[in-house]
Amino acid sequence: MVTPARLPVIIRYLDQEYFRPRFAPRYPPVEELVFTILSQNTTDINSVRTLDSLRKKYPSWEDASRAPVLEIEDAIRMSGIAGPKSRYIKETLSALLAEQGDLKLDFLARMGDREALDYLTKFPGVGIKTAACVLMFSLGRPVMPVDTHVFRVCKRLDFLPEDATRESAHGILNAIVPEDDRYSFHINLVLHGRKVCKALRPRCGECLIEGLCPS
Ligand code: SF4
Repeated sequence: MVTPARLPVIIRYLDQEYFRPRFAPRYPPVEELVFTILSQNTTDINSVRTLDSLRKKYPSWEDASRAPVLEIEDAIRMSGIAGPKSRYIKETLSALLAEQGDLKLDFLARMGDREALDYLTKFPGVGIKTAACVLMFSLGRPVMPVDTHVFRVCKRLDFLPEDATRESAHGILNAIVPEDDRYSFHINLVLHGRKVCKALRPRCGECLIEGLCPS
């Protein structure tokens, strides 16, 4: 796939507006995995608080994997849709522990990006976005997650076809965004989506890339 000529220009504009972030690991891989499951349909603040409450309740993630699912559900209630999330966390941690013997997820370092995505997405509740978050935010791999902001802004910028899904968007965007830019582009698109290119009323009059946006 060919990188559209506007894309590198937009990346530079966003870097100037929001700064170009340097990679710093957010959480160890297993915590990033749990955090991203918790973050579904809730705010970052809620997800951080819920992760903290799980950390306080369970001395290790191995302990969490052995806990009754209802107990996990109780501990993560504040993150919303706690029933499915608690099952995903319990089943995924248990399966990873059974397969790997621990929950460090060191083996991901020996896998290529595609292999690691395929491996992680076979676990309950781990979609392509969650797997990409583990690879990018914990391991610094050039795999750009497509969250709701990235998806919406890239659609409006016409980098995605009208019928794109979040799953198909992952392949399209990772094919056209240069590897070195994927981390900063993801973070800055999220900022831009929250502050300017909002879901309901985008503030196009205040948008620094308005002249490059077909919408
Ligand atoms: S011009 Fe409007 S639609 Fe386009 S990126 Fe900016 S805020 Fe979003």
